[in-house]
Amino acid sequence: MTDKLITIDLSESPYSNDMIHNRWHPDIPMVAKVKPGDDFVVECYDWTGGQIKNDDKAEDVRDVDLSQVHFLSGPIGVEGAEPGDLLVVDILDIGAFGDCEWGFNGFFSRNNGGGFLTDHFPEAQKSIWDFNGMFTSSRHIPGVEFAGLIHPGLIGCLPSKEMLSEWNKREAELFNTDPNRVPALATLPYADTAHMGRMSEDAAKVAAAEAARTVPPREHGGNCDIKDLSRGSKVYFPVYVDGAGLSVGDLHFSQGDGEITFCGAIEMAGWIHMRVNLVKGGMAKYGIKNPIFKPSPITPKYDDYLIFEGISVDEKGKQHYLDVHIAYRQACLNAIEYLKKFGYTGAQAYAILGTAPVQGHISGVVDIPNACATLWLPTDIFDFDLQPNASGPTKAITGSVDVPLAPDLGG
Ligand code: ZN
Repeated sequence: MTDKLITIDLSESPYSNDMIHNRWHPDIPMVAKVKPGDDFVVECYDWTGGQIKNDDKAEDVRDVDLSQVHFLSGPIGVEGAEPGDLLVVDILDIGAFGDCEWGFNGFFSRNNGGGFLTDHFPEAQKSIWDFNGMFTSSRHIPGVEFAGLIHPGLIGCLPSKEMLSEWNKREAELFNTDPNRVPALATLPYADTAHMGRMSEDAAKVAAAEAARTVPPREHGGNCDIKDLSRGSKVYFPVYVDGAGLSVGDLHFSQGDGEITFCGAIEMAGWIHMRVNLVKGGMAKYGIKNPIFKPSPITPKYDDYLIFEGISVDEKGKQHYLDVHIAYRQACLNAIEYLKKFGYTGAQAYAILGTAPVQGHISGVVDIPNACATLWLPTDIFDFDLQPNASGPTKAITGSVDVPLAPDLGG
């Protein structure tokens, strides 16, 4: 039988579980030891550690304490792993708990987190998604159901001391260019809500002040939010400390490319089954700085799309130079406007783009001055015809259901 290395109790705070941590630091003690070739199961909190509830209000999203995220399970030590190696992780399977078959998607308030389209959706909103086996649907978003491309949003190995100081240096430099910006330019170390796993209280006090937050993806992988890193993929992670220190969390039932809603994909608590192996000296052998991976042999088959283009001209008509961030935003806004013609509210359309297996492509980055990004909306996830035609769109979505909204309190 496969070992379950980390168990959690959803009725208890993740702070009371010493196999959980919410910061990156080389000295966080390993909570389990495995050998190359071993497979094992790890249980994970949802990324907020249970702050978001299965209800029809969005106050929990508005008031979420973002300094607590992400709650990760680990680190797991791998025998024989040394800096410079590659840790090979087979993601064998992922699932939700039988008594917790639901997930959430939301948009943060502009004053507490923000998001990709925060200027257009400045208030906190939330949709709840029920899992029906491999499919999901939401009582807040009618007319749509799809198969989950289930994956960990966050997975990676512990950084070395040198790497951690490099992260802190470069992120502080960026933050300090506009320290009062809302939302902030970067999330800097913050000791008050740090959970340093099994570190002793004295050591944790010192380490928490410099431990990296888990928000950005970095050289070690981390919070990459790649929907295609799904069950069945094989990932090659750079190793920076003895034992590697593999940690994982932020499980997603499904997500659109870009995780544009930020809170987040379809976020869930659950379990992940993995197998580890090593490629000794693999970083130098293959010239690897960031993780590489092979996708799963099994993916939901959605091969018909309606594709929306966007260029690097912003909402005010201002020209930007090859800016793919702006181009992708325009592609997303174009898709939202289109979906509204079928009866969706803007918030429902935004939630679909954040949760469904939507593809985002950087289509052109050389044709000055416009970058071109495309958003690929799978048509088969809708229970009505989405194609444009001569008679115009039929209002398929009617009724009073909407994504709950939380009044903003300012900030
Ligand atoms: Zn997430």
